[in-house]
Amino acid sequence: MATTNSARNWDLRSDTATKPSPEMFQYMAQAEVGNDVFGEDPTVNELERRVAELLGKPAAVFVVSSTMSNQLAIRTHLRNPPETVLCHSHAHIYKYEAGGASFHSQAMVVPVTPANGAINLTVDDVERGFIEDDGDFHCAPTRLILLENTFTGTVMPIDDIRAIRRFANENSVPVHMDGSRLWNASIASGISLAEYAKEVDSVNLCLSKGMGCPVGAILAGSEEFIRKARHFRKLFGGGWRQAGILAAAGLPRRLADGLFELGFKPLLPVETNMILLDPSDARVDSDELSRELAKQGVTLDTVYKGSIRIVTHNQIDDECIDLVLSVARGLEKK
Ligand SMILES: *Cc1c(COP(=O)(O)O)cnc(C)c1O
Repeated sequence: MATTNSARNWDLRSDTATKPSPEMFQYMAQAEVGNDVFGEDPTVNELERRVAELLGKPAAVFVVSSTMSNQLAIRTHLRNPPETVLCHSHAHIYKYEAGGASFHSQAMVVPVTPANGAINLTVDDVERGFIEDDGDFHCAPTRLILLENTFTGTVMPIDDIRAIRRFANENSVPVHMDGSRLWNASIASGISLAEYAKEVDSVNLCLSKGMGCPVGAILAGSEEFIRKARHFRKLFGGGWRQAGILAAAGLPRRLADGLFELGFKPLLPVETNMILLDPSDARVDSDELSRELAKQGVTLDTVYKGSIRIVTHNQIDDECIDLVLSVARGLEKK
């Protein structure tokens, strides 16, 4: 059974390319299972319990995808339209979830672009976009603040998260964190998953990206919140009968530094597993690099709005990094 990439075959487009390792398949084959809709799958229960503990949250629910997890969070936090949710103007929830907030939750999204060249939202941005519940019938008050960490591979500073938390408390509004890659943020910053989770009411963690699971995400929060989210999960058609388990993550720093030496410029700081490069001053032609790498079994995305996007994950090893750097150096125009 082909369970992992064969030797000399790597995909640098996205950490969603990760496949289960042979050990993971073995674990899955041996897993004890039951009917999770009845709460009777011991492996799912164990996964939910362990991730909730890792996050320091009372409860968690295993769901199909991070999209479902985020949408369940929005639906569960909101209850009384007309309402708005506030998020970054490039948040996954706003741009890449098929307009789910309006469809599932009848909510308008207020997208906010960080001011002063900041990458992540600050409390000033949140205050600027926030719609108060002041009795004005023209407006739909903000009932939920959504944060994303990491955001395109950058770590959201914990002080900004804390300031937003204080603002949210003052306004009695919950905060949800799309922590699809919170694992990466935690490794890069040294701040534990629980320390991040403490600052928000609910958090989503992705299992099918850096972790390498074939499917799955975890939504965590209070007992009452998760009980309600389970109800909506059933309504969304997401009640299921399966199990999943965790794996490990990868590191991109050496690759980024090698490419900078060839004139590629970072479009965003390289803090975790994502590298966004501006190739305009590079001494290597991106298309040529992509073509040469393809011959050697490496898939590289070169057309992300004129930039190069590289995402490392647990199936990208040193051999792949060495290969990319040596091919790139071989193509350098002197
Ligand atoms: C990938 C991603 C999602 C959606 O994940 P799926 O499991 O593919 O639905 C949500 N948020 C962020 C930040 C992501 O990177």
